[in-house]
Amino acid sequence: MNRSSEIILSEKAVENNIRFLRKKLGPQVKISSVVKANAYGHGIEQIVPLFEKYGIDHFSVFDFTEAERVCQSLTGDCNIMIMGWIPDDRMDNVLKKGFEFVVFSLERLNLALKVARALNLKARIHLEVETGMNRSGLNGKELNQAIETIINNREHFEVRGFCTHLAGPESISNHLRIQKQLKKFHKMLATLEEHGIYPTYRHVANSAGAFAYPKTRMDLVRIGIMQYGFWPSTETFIQYINSKADKTDPLDRIMSWHSKVMAVKEIKTGEFIGYGITYQAQTDMRTALIPVGYSVGFSRSLSNRGRVLIHGQRCRVIGVVNMNMIIADITHLEGVKICDDVVIIGKQGQQEIKVTAFSDISDQLNYEVLAHLSPRIYRRVV
Ligand SMILES: *Cc1c(COP(=O)(O)O)cnc(C)c1O
Repeated sequence: MNRSSEIILSEKAVENNIRFLRKKLGPQVKISSVVKANAYGHGIEQIVPLFEKYGIDHFSVFDFTEAERVCQSLTGDCNIMIMGWIPDDRMDNVLKKGFEFVVFSLERLNLALKVARALNLKARIHLEVETGMNRSGLNGKELNQAIETIINNREHFEVRGFCTHLAGPESISNHLRIQKQLKKFHKMLATLEEHGIYPTYRHVANSAGAFAYPKTRMDLVRIGIMQYGFWPSTETFIQYINSKADKTDPLDRIMSWHSKVMAVKEIKTGEFIGYGITYQAQTDMRTALIPVGYSVGFSRSLSNRGRVLIHGQRCRVIGVVNMNMIIADITHLEGVKICDDVVIIGKQGQQEIKVTAFSDISDQLNYEVLAHLSPRIYRRVV
């Protein structure tokens, strides 16, 4: 390995997770694979071809640039939905490439119409309605205006979807709010259909929605975190596993993150280790230097708290996390040599460092830890 660290992606785990999701969601429900934030840190260019190989044929991204990257990574048709940012001057490219996109404001609808007219093309839109999250989406009055615009310009719109986003289905404490959102969604959908507009896909669910509230599956689910092998929250996992005889997690983590020992050092009692005085050796110690730091996503908040695996054993991160390096305590290990494998996330022997352990210690969501993994880390599929 000539890179200071690498992320290894397991094809077998991809196959397992997609098979599980397919089986649970049923044949009627389309999966749109959410690959925003560089496929949750896994790498768009590596993950998208794998997902495609195992049958995924619809992808969701946040912005136009990601849509282009996904499209270039696919061998088949590009069925891609842009959920968020599109610069005004890229709308023509969006239409030419046939990307689908979410319309959450009348401004975007009107821009799409203007460009569609100029190019004599159809905009493939998903109308997003505001149902209670109060983040994005058309309110009732705006929906009526949108309906009017669409009816008057039928030749320039293909209504691919009608959608909303749920405000926290991963926690039971949001139950009432979710129910209210669903009620509102169906009411707004009825308004749309009364005007003779029938969207191809009605969709509201992310991973947690699809599992905690099966009726939110509708025609399509936008699955992000679960396809990578993580549950949206402990609650969602427990809720699922409670009703099952087999208590093993049906999902497999796709990703592991490896580095190497760069140097080994002996430290005398009383010496401070690393920058400042955050760690003082209480005995004679041995340390390993590892070329991974906050510049590639190993959060500084793991200073004196993180763990890595060396020789199948847990080793504490001591001192502060540097930009490109961490120091681990290997006093309890014999014979650690330069270039020995270090696991930052993943399994080694009987031990495992999970992203959740990582995120709990550093007070981040698992989503956040993943999204912070630098795109500069080399990624490869096994
Ligand atoms: C990120 C996102 C998803 C996927 O959420 P997961 O919890 O990762 O499944 C679905 N829908 C929207 C609008 C999103 O932004």
